[in-house]
Amino acid sequence: MSDQLEATAAKPAPATERSAQQAVNPATGEPGHAYPAHSIDDAHAAAEVAHAAFKSWRRTSFAHRSKLMRQAGAVLRQRADEFAALMTEEMGKTLTDGRAEIEKCAAHCEWFADHAATYLAPEPVDVGGPEAFIAFNPLGVVLAVMPWNFPFWQAFRFAAPALMAGNGALLKHASNVPGCALAIERVFHEAGFPRDLFRTLLLPSSDVKALIEDDHVAAVTLTGSVTAGKSVAAAAAGVLKKCVLELGGSDAYVVLEDADVAAAAKICATARMVNGGQSCIAGKRFIVVRDILEAFEAAMVEAMRGYAMGDPGDEHSKLGPMQSVHARDEIHAQVIKSIAAGAQLLLGGEVPDRPGAWYPATVLADVLPGQPAHDDEVFGPVAAIIAAKDEADAIRIANASDYGLGSGVLTGDIDRGRRIATEELEAGMSFVNENVRSDSRMPFGGVKHSGYGRECAAFGIREFTNIKSVHVRALESTA
Ligand code: NAP
Repeated sequence: MSDQLEATAAKPAPATERSAQQAVNPATGEPGHAYPAHSIDDAHAAAEVAHAAFKSWRRTSFAHRSKLMRQAGAVLRQRADEFAALMTEEMGKTLTDGRAEIEKCAAHCEWFADHAATYLAPEPVDVGGPEAFIAFNPLGVVLAVMPWNFPFWQAFRFAAPALMAGNGALLKHASNVPGCALAIERVFHEAGFPRDLFRTLLLPSSDVKALIEDDHVAAVTLTGSVTAGKSVAAAAAGVLKKCVLELGGSDAYVVLEDADVAAAAKICATARMVNGGQSCIAGKRFIVVRDILEAFEAAMVEAMRGYAMGDPGDEHSKLGPMQSVHARDEIHAQVIKSIAAGAQLLLGGEVPDRPGAWYPATVLADVLPGQPAHDDEVFGPVAAIIAAKDEADAIRIANASDYGLGSGVLTGDIDRGRRIATEELEAGMSFVNENVRSDSRMPFGGVKHSGYGRECAAFGIREFTNIKSVHVRALESTA
C-alpha cells in the first residue's frame, strides 16, 4: 500500500480531476499544478506503515538519526531556490523570504541533530533511594496539521524534533500548498529516512478527525486558526490523545513615551510586515502612549510606506500578494468595517485594480473596541494603532485580547521593558525593542486562544515523548 501511496502522490494530475489538491498562483490568479488527493483509506494505510516504521526507528541511536537529519538540512540547502520558487507559486511568498525560510529549516534540522541527545538524556533525580531518573521515550506516530503561511518552516519546526525523538510522522498540510507538502516528504526520503516513517497526505480537513482516531496515530499537533484548533482538540480529547496547538495571535506592541519614535516605528513596521503580514506572530496592535501618539502615527506611515507591492519573484520586492483572493477580501472587509466603526485610514486600504490577491500596506489609527482591527486577528499588512493613557493603560489594552502568542515593548528604559515583558504581558513570548521571532533554541507557543504546548528547544522536543519516571533498586533477599 505504501508504494501505491507514493505513486499517487508523485505525479501532477490534470487540473480538472475531482479529488485533487490544486494551488492557484496568488500573484496572477492562474491555476497551478493539481495533485491527486489521498483517500481516507490511503491515510489509514499510511498510518499503519508509519507505525511499523516507528517501531524500528525508535530503537535507532541518536547518532544515526542526527546523520540523517543533517542530510535533510543539506538537501534543503541544495534545493533552496527550487523550494523558494514553489512557495512563491503556491502562496505568494517573496523569493527572498522563501530562501530565508529554507535556510531557517536547514539550521533547525542541524540544531536538533546536534542537541536532541542532550535534550532527551535521562535526568537523574535524588529521591533519597538507590536510583531514580526521568527517561524520555517517543510516543509513536504524530499527525501534524499545518498551515500555508510558512509552508516549509511550520512543517520542519515540528518534524525535526519529532523524528529526532524517535517518533514517526504524518503531514496533512494546508490544501493550497500541495506541491510544498510533497516536496517536504521528498526531502526526508532523499535524506535517507525510512520511506514509511514520514508521509505527506493530501487530505481535506474533513478527514482529520478520522485520522486522529486511527489506532496507529499516537498524538496530533495543529498550527492554524482557533476554529481548526478547537475541532482538532475536541477530536483528540474524544480518544484521549496528546495534542499541541499553535493557533492565531493578535500580538500587541506597547510603545512607551520614552521610546525613540522613529526607531520604534521601524521595529513595529517590520513586525507587522513579516510574510506580508500573514504571520501568527506578526505585530497586529500597536498600543501607543498618548504623549507620542501623533509622532508615532507619522513615523509608522513612513515606515509602512516602504513596503511597496511588487512581483514576489523579484528579489527586491518587499510585499507580495496575499495567499488568496478570498483571504485578501476578508482582510479588506475587516479594514472597511473598522473604518465604518470610527477608525481613521492613514495609509493604503484600497484593493488595487489588477488580477491576483494584492493588498497594500495599510495603517489605521483611532482603533477602538468593537472594530475588527481591535478585536480580531487581521492576517495581512494592516497596522492598527491604539491610543493609551499611560503604561498601565497600555498593558491593560494589550492583555484585553483572547489571544496570547507574542508581544513587544518599545522603550528607552531597558529595565522597564524587561519588567513589563517578564511580568505584565499575557503572551507566550515577549520581546523588548525587537520584533517577535521564532528560534530553534527558545520555546515557541502561546497562552489563551493562541493554544497550548510548545515547539522548539527542550520543551518542544519533549512534547511528543513519554516523560517517564524510572526507579531502580536491587532486589533484596528476604532470606
Ligand atoms: P486554518 O484554516 O486553521 O488551516 C490550518 C490547517 O488546518 C490546514 O491544514 C487546514 O486544512 C486545517 N484545518 C482547517 N480547518 C480544520 C478543521 N476543522 N479540522 C482539522 N483541520 C482543519 O488556518 P489558516 O487560516 O490557513 O492559517 C492562518 C491561521 O493560522 C491564523 O490564525 C494564524 O495566526 C495561524 N497560525 C498560527 C501559527 C502559530 O505558530 N501559532 C503559525 C502560523 C499560522 P485545509 O487547508 O485543508 O483547510
